[in-house]
Amino acid sequence: MDRDPILLTPGPLTTTLRTKLAMLRDWGSWDADFNAITAEVRREILAIAHAADTHVAVPLQGSGTFAVEAAVSTLVPRDGHLLVLDNGAYCKRLGKLATLMGRRTTILGRPEDQPVDPAELDRRLAEDPSITHVGLIHCETGTGVLNPLAEVAAVCERHGRGLIVDAMSSFGALPVDARTTRFDALIAASGKCLEGVPGMGFVLIRRAVLDGCAGRSHSLAMDLHDQHAYMERTGQWRFTPPTHVVAALAEAIRQFKEEGGQPARLARYRANGEALVDGMAIIYTFHAPAHPRYDFKRFYAAAKARGFILYPGKLTEVETFRVGCIGAIDRTVMRQMVAAVADAMTELGLPIGPR
Ligand SMILES: *Cc1c(COP(=O)(O)O)cnc(C)c1O
Repeated sequence: MDRDPILLTPGPLTTTLRTKLAMLRDWGSWDADFNAITAEVRREILAIAHAADTHVAVPLQGSGTFAVEAAVSTLVPRDGHLLVLDNGAYCKRLGKLATLMGRRTTILGRPEDQPVDPAELDRRLAEDPSITHVGLIHCETGTGVLNPLAEVAAVCERHGRGLIVDAMSSFGALPVDARTTRFDALIAASGKCLEGVPGMGFVLIRRAVLDGCAGRSHSLAMDLHDQHAYMERTGQWRFTPPTHVVAALAEAIRQFKEEGGQPARLARYRANGEALVDGMAIIYTFHAPAHPRYDFKRFYAAAKARGFILYPGKLTEVETFRVGCIGAIDRTVMRQMVAAVADAMTELGLPIGPR
């Protein structure tokens, strides 16, 4: 292979050369030039969600889950009650981290192949006034199922409950509009649809709830209220920032804007998806071939030898693998990938079905 393998995974993703080159410089964490990059990233992230008037953007070191954990820890009071709308693996992770930090947590389960149901949420909130917050995964990356964010937000607003949204795999690609969709926190990360490199997450926190969050976190490192207060006061991160990751994200966001922002990104990802199957999603889960010779590890190796990195499935009940259409890739790459997978299947002695 004369090029690096293409990542067809739900993150980390393939990034552009320009984004990679932005990491070839060392920055002082207190330096004014670096602080300006942090400020730019925070401002642009708010703009993507049309949230400049209503929210603040608080970045946090670590992978996306760190930011989810920080959002729950910062927003949900210690005697609060979180209702998790569960239709997949990332919902279960949200429920688990809330339980582990000692917040009362209730799981409202749905089949993995169906979106969560706002009417069911409505009934549940009416029945149980002890629920203070609702946790939603916007796009359940485990399956690719998209949940109805605007409808869930409307139900939460009507009942006066807080909404915490994990928009990790959708932010930047699917529209989110804070002017019409009310959420208390919305979480995403550098290494997903903004096409930065992994290493930091960020949380958009509604200004109206921010002050009330002081002292709720049981954890120093996860306290986003404190991180925000420090950043506002000094322009700096509270603890050592992932400087190269921040610089790469700023460069990635500049390219995002040049490309045409969220609508253009979604259009490219959908074109990628259409080159893969006739579909509209951005992450696909495929049933593995029901063939005795199929083995994910061998299939993965054969695809990798052809320059494409696939991802195992996350459905618990059936054997699957996943293909992400996100990242700095276009439909030519997707077509090459389809051909490479067919070739890999032939090598493994698997039949290729009609397309
Ligand atoms: C990627 C992702 C996360 C974060 O996963 P990390 O491995 O911690 O980066 C959380 N939620 C969803 C829906 C995701 O797609």
